[in-house]
Amino acid sequence: MLFIDLDHFKFINDSLGHATGDEVLRQVAQRLRSRLRDSDTMSRRGGDEFVVLLPGLDSVEQAGTIAEMLIGETASPYVVGNNKFGLTFSIGISLFPDDSDDQETLLRHADAAMNLAKQTGRNRYQFFSRDIEDKMRKRYALAHQLRHAIEKQHFEVFYQAKVDIARHTIVGLEALVRWRHESGRLISPGEFIPLAEESNLIEPIGQFVLVQACRQVYAWHQQGQSVPVSVNVSAVQFLNPVFPQTVHDALLQSGLPSRLLELEITEGVLMHDVAAARVTLEKLKQLGVRLAIDDFGTGYSSLAYLKRFPVDVLKIDQSFVRDMLTDTGDSKIISAIINLGRGLGMELVAEGVEQQAQADALHRLGCTIMQGFLYSRPAPAAEVGKVLSRLTLPTPGSVPIVKPDVRHHANP
Ligand code: C2E
Ligand code: CA
Ligand code: CA
Repeated sequence: MLFIDLDHFKFINDSLGHATGDEVLRQVAQRLRSRLRDSDTMSRRGGDEFVVLLPGLDSVEQAGTIAEMLIGETASPYVVGNNKFGLTFSIGISLFPDDSDDQETLLRHADAAMNLAKQTGRNRYQFFSRDIEDKMRKRYALAHQLRHAIEKQHFEVFYQAKVDIARHTIVGLEALVRWRHESGRLISPGEFIPLAEESNLIEPIGQFVLVQACRQVYAWHQQGQSVPVSVNVSAVQFLNPVFPQTVHDALLQSGLPSRLLELEITEGVLMHDVAAARVTLEKLKQLGVRLAIDDFGTGYSSLAYLKRFPVDVLKIDQSFVRDMLTDTGDSKIISAIINLGRGLGMELVAEGVEQQAQADALHRLGCTIMQGFLYSRPAPAAEVGKVLSRLTLPTPGSVPIVKPDVRHHANP
């Protein structure tokens, strides 16, 4: 069984209209059928999905050869009206009776294999394997547990300091979410944020972190420790038109002055739809919050757009900092980012600073605000609060660095 799915078909529908999309599907069906034997069965499952049954093959390899041939068939461009464009397929393959002897399972397995083909680059075919099934089952179980965790609010917000080494002050905290699993284990966001994004669970999690961070930082503010907090915003949250309102509500409900809230948005999200991103950024800016571009240098920012975005901060991605002492390319990129940020009047923050030599090099290049294990690891609010309360504030919005205890807190 071959499960065939067109790559990026939505793009054709969205940009050229559904009539063109329909015509493309007809042409695809004709092309596929022209390459099949009379004994094969082809059906359209809906949308841009086709299923093909190939009975009586001599070998497993033959299924791969046919999939390969069908993928090759799409290489020549499609013409609809005045439009001419290329299309590719991703194909998943399941085998009867090896993978399953019932129809429904066979289909599910071919679908799972197709999804893996998509995840691993598209325009390719993929056989189903037990390994894929294991991964699917684990993901499914994790998504189920995540849903439960959202209901029970099994999340905690940790905070990591950003320090200005020239002024010897803590200039902000980044809020970083952790999932307290029922087993007691702390699960790091790298393990569940991507899953949460794919399964529509990121919004409630993001909302929880936003509200929690605002409340916590407001409490510190009330105690005389006014430290700005940065909250990470996922693509799904940012692209939702109600997001600025959500931020407004979180500020209002917590009482936190908007100047103490910063939002971190990754580059890719802004470039996805530049005009829409700009509108959202302007709305957020009007609330008085600060805006940062996270993981800067890893996406595809058009520099021309960068200057038109009302952004206050560039966070230099940790991958550059990690290798800057050994890789002159990385150190040159950092230097270019620093010059760019300065030229546009933005604040620069280097992430993932672990060694004194990195801090020194960054300082020499002109970046003084740093975040990394060298200064402090992300820690629970109670611990960060203890550090903050021991400090006297020179100016609002910044507190002196002490080498905090949070430095030795194990990073989960
Ligand atoms: P990020 O926004 O780039 O956050 C920085 C990550 O780098 C954090 O990982 C932090 O613990 C880690 N880090 C800080 N200093 C160092 C260092 O010196 N060396 C090394 N090797 N790592 C360092 P964490 O907490 O595991 O978070 C990972 C990612 O998950 C974050 O990357 C962010 O993209 C995402 N994330 C975390 N919390 C949230 C959240 O509330 N919402 C959303 N949407 N994403 C979140
Ligand atoms: Ca971040
Ligand atoms: Ca980052």
